[in-house]
Amino acid sequence: IERNGHEPEFIQAVQEVAETVIPYIAKQEIYNGKNILLRMVEPERAITFRVAWVDDTGEIQVNRGYRIQMNSAIGPYKGGLRFHPTVNMSILKFLAFEQVFKNSLTTLPMGGGKGGSDFDPKGKSDGEVMRFCQSFMSELYRHIGPNTDVPAGDIGVGGREIGFLYGTYKRLRNEFTGVLTGKGLSWGGSLIRPEATGYGAVYFAKNMLETQGKDLKGKTVLVSGSGNVAQYATEKATQLGAKVITLSDSSGYILDEEGIDATKLAYVMDLKNVKRGRISEYVKKYPKSKYFEGKTPWHEKCDLAFPCATQNELNGEDAKSLISNGCICVSEGANMPSTPDAIAAFHKAKILFAPGKASNAGGVATSGLEMSQNSLRLNWTREEVDSKLQKIMSDIHESCIKFGTQKDGYVDYVKGANIAGFVKVADAMLAHGVV
Ligand code: NDP
Repeated sequence: IERNGHEPEFIQAVQEVAETVIPYIAKQEIYNGKNILLRMVEPERAITFRVAWVDDTGEIQVNRGYRIQMNSAIGPYKGGLRFHPTVNMSILKFLAFEQVFKNSLTTLPMGGGKGGSDFDPKGKSDGEVMRFCQSFMSELYRHIGPNTDVPAGDIGVGGREIGFLYGTYKRLRNEFTGVLTGKGLSWGGSLIRPEATGYGAVYFAKNMLETQGKDLKGKTVLVSGSGNVAQYATEKATQLGAKVITLSDSSGYILDEEGIDATKLAYVMDLKNVKRGRISEYVKKYPKSKYFEGKTPWHEKCDLAFPCATQNELNGEDAKSLISNGCICVSEGANMPSTPDAIAAFHKAKILFAPGKASNAGGVATSGLEMSQNSLRLNWTREEVDSKLQKIMSDIHESCIKFGTQKDGYVDYVKGANIAGFVKVADAMLAHGVV
């Protein structure tokens, strides 16, 4: 806290891990006196750089670029790039720290990292986004590589941005390698990667519900966000028989009590991914639905909730409202969307609650599968990748059960995910000596 007190999101993420991992370390002889957690909270490397670019009016704009290379004990740094005006060192260090544990949980050989910029893609032309990406990569390229650091997408970085970034990397390095994931299918991408985070969060919820002999059929579901993760969580939950009734963006949320079926979801995908519009436009297309400006969806009645927008979007009051309205399961698609108060409320009520580092790990896991396919120079089928994704989500669920089951049988998935993620990285760090 002395060293990082000015970074609230980072402190929040570390505290959540420390509360569960420190009591575990205290009981394990091999970790005693090794200051492993102290080493884990310090990034191996944190890079910031100037990103200058020219906008459509000819004016020169300047943004700040970042890459946090947090931990490479079990593999090359791996984690997304976020383009959003709120991006700063605290946000990226929290994300990079979470990523270390998440990547360890996937069972694949990936270290943890995160990066991005305070650039806001909203309202920018394709040309402006391209020039920004070219400038960003003209510095980042010297710090990354297929065996060093493999970035991916996150908020504000989707297929379009990965394309511009990859084109610049390829040109500067004169090599065609799997240095980014989330690539297009014709140039090294993997089937199921766009779907993987949202699908994975739903598969994880399915695994949790099965422990109580339940499934998704007929369940009413709240989803927040309307970006990549929210869209595919909605698709998979609907395919498994649930009815998704909300979506949101940073301006407000829509409620469609009839359910957001495949046709309506196709409209949302076109609205958000192609037209880059706002979710409020949904009510013009589907007048029976309602729009609530400046609100989040957590006060609606539901069985399941998937927060898929951003950090700290679900607070203690929201959690109490979900619980009193009958919600039995929360599976985080976003990173750290629930505040510590909200998590405490879920645990007190003993409802099923999965932290993002477990339930949204399907995205990075499938990025790992994209890296494997790039190295093999082979493409796996949709079915092959989807079945590997389901197996990984079920293995992560098992790890959480192993380390998180309490004396009364309640599974603390936060504790389970933190300890399972910690053990693999800590053991590798011990083997590598004091580095
Ligand atoms: P997108 O950019 O595709 O979508 C983000 C969504 O969240 C948009 O609807 C956006 O609304 C909303 N949002 C962003 N910031 C805020 C805010 N401050 N308040 C309310 N809503 C907000 O990003 P993704 O879907 O990829 O990412 C969503 C979350 O999932 C993030 O936490 C990300 O870190 C996490 N995640 C993503 C993975 C992936 O594979 N993409 C993997 C693992 C985790 P608006 O359009 O108004 O900005």
